[in-house]
Amino acid sequence: MARAIPLEAEDRANWLRSAPFIAFHFVPLLALWTGVTWRAAAFGVAAYIVRMFFITAGYHRYFSHRSFKAPRAVQALLAFGGTTAVQKGPLWWAANHRAHHRFSDTDQDIHSPLKGFWHSHIGWIMSDRHTATDFNAVKDLARFPELRFLERFDWIGGIAVAAASFVVAGWSGLVVGFFLSTVALWHGTFTVNSLAHVMGRRRYATTDTSRNSVIVALITGGEGWHNNHHHYPVSARQGFFWWEIDPTWYVLRAMAALHLVRDLRVPPAEVRSASLVRTGCLDVGMVRAHWTRAAAAVASSRVTLGHSVSGGVATVTDAISGTRAGLEAKLAAERETLEAGVASSLSAVDSYARLLRQGRRSA
Ligand SMILES: [Zn+2]
Ligand SMILES: [Zn+2]
Repeated sequence: MARAIPLEAEDRANWLRSAPFIAFHFVPLLALWTGVTWRAAAFGVAAYIVRMFFITAGYHRYFSHRSFKAPRAVQALLAFGGTTAVQKGPLWWAANHRAHHRFSDTDQDIHSPLKGFWHSHIGWIMSDRHTATDFNAVKDLARFPELRFLERFDWIGGIAVAAASFVVAGWSGLVVGFFLSTVALWHGTFTVNSLAHVMGRRRYATTDTSRNSVIVALITGGEGWHNNHHHYPVSARQGFFWWEIDPTWYVLRAMAALHLVRDLRVPPAEVRSASLVRTGCLDVGMVRAHWTRAAAAVASSRVTLGHSVSGGVATVTDAISGTRAGLEAKLAAERETLEAGVASSLSAVDSYARLLRQGRRSA
């Protein structure tokens, strides 16, 4: 099936530059030689959970969305903790994530599944297009020299975890506690960009394809309530209701009680009950995704009558065309009409989404 949004040349994976990233995935196989000790496994699980917290609470909810306030020392700790996840620096991460929210599921979205599931999950990271940090998008963060330092030396955190894993559990610790745990952490994080836009339910009629999924929430420590999140991105709490499990939020609450962070933003009641799909709000995000897919399918199609029922001899007689060639010409004309119709529907739903976003920003 054709991609709903085609990839451009620079979106393609640069396999050579990505070689270390790919090779990293195979290092855990060394466990066949080192074995897997209990100590190494425990270190790996703990490293996954702690680092996931730094990604979700730090890189995502704090640096990308400023959903709570933190003293400068805690801010630096959140940034350092984020670098231990080996997902580059806080500025690069936040700049790309802010771009995702600005252009969700349009052709300018850096990792929309409409560009293909593989691209949304991992392909965009392997392309050359998103390697640089857009400092203009993170001016509020770039003014801190300690954050710029961690951005520049973003490998320090990863090396620190690797060293700790070796000290705690030896070679098995390094292979399982660091390498395997990091690969799991990457793909756990990536599910928010891929799975959370294709799997789960939509409560809010957002202009994107985001969904709420308990599975993704369990993998990511609470980031699976992605439709909630796109509905109200500035919230430090992503599970909007008590039954929506959100461990990151529980830890943030505890940190606020200890005065480590403050001013945690939460969705007001009127936000939680606005734009509900079940009350009949036009689900513009899904409508747009369907029209985008339809447009791509029509554009990449060819006109053909297919085989005729009597084995090659045209048996259809048509009052206007009469012949098979005539029918084909008519079909081609209908396809043109269809293409124009789909394009105009897509542009209408695009304008609708734009107006809606404008309205929400000004609200
Ligand atoms: Zn998203
Ligand atoms: Zn976000």
